[in-house]
Amino acid sequence: MKKMFLLALTGWLIFCTLQTDAGKEITSAPTAAAAVDRLLEGNKRYTQYEPIHPDESRLRRKELTKGQHPYAVVVTCSDSRVSPELVFDQGLGDIFVIRTAGNIMGEIELGSIEYAVEHLNVPLVMVVGHEGCGAIGAYVKGEHASGYLKTIIDSIAAESEIKALKIKGDQVFDHFVKANIQHGVREIIQSSPVIRERVANGALTVMGGYERLVDGKVEPLQSN
Ligand SMILES: [Zn+2]
Repeated sequence: MKKMFLLALTGWLIFCTLQTDAGKEITSAPTAAAAVDRLLEGNKRYTQYEPIHPDESRLRRKELTKGQHPYAVVVTCSDSRVSPELVFDQGLGDIFVIRTAGNIMGEIELGSIEYAVEHLNVPLVMVVGHEGCGAIGAYVKGEHASGYLKTIIDSIAAESEIKALKIKGDQVFDHFVKANIQHGVREIIQSSPVIRERVANGALTVMGGYERLVDGKVEPLQSN
């Protein structure tokens, strides 16, 4: 009887592990390292044209009516070519997403990140910029902007990481994109005491990511 119980228990544990591996169930709070791995594994599936489109089932929808437990915040551009659920092959309830043109952040975006970190205990924030970003391009090319679009360009122009770059031109365009990502990482940590405290005690990682448009690959950049 005891042996049967142990066999059943072992089977159940294997089942739970398989569920976790498939990205269907994560019941315990993930670490930042596990969250990075999960994002990059999904990105690998996406780049290899082998997405599994996890967590879109009827069961998943029902489960999520009880609450959300996303394992990462992704801050990225509004650009229609970089949808994070597709790029990281994630589903419903998996990632908490903030999107603006040029992944620029103001108080509302920072507040959204704070909500995910403070109330949903998300262990990872990744700021993902991308190749050929139109917002950064508009700044680099010195294009005229008016209205609220000017607010975005002015915000990019004011970043110290951007101002530190003297050379302009298409050949160094990516340098500006990456400088903007670096700024985003620093801004999140510096602007928010809640986030800064979590980073300091090791409960949160804030890092960058750079996405190539040609193959969709996300290259991890520096973290806190
Ligand atoms: Zn963009």
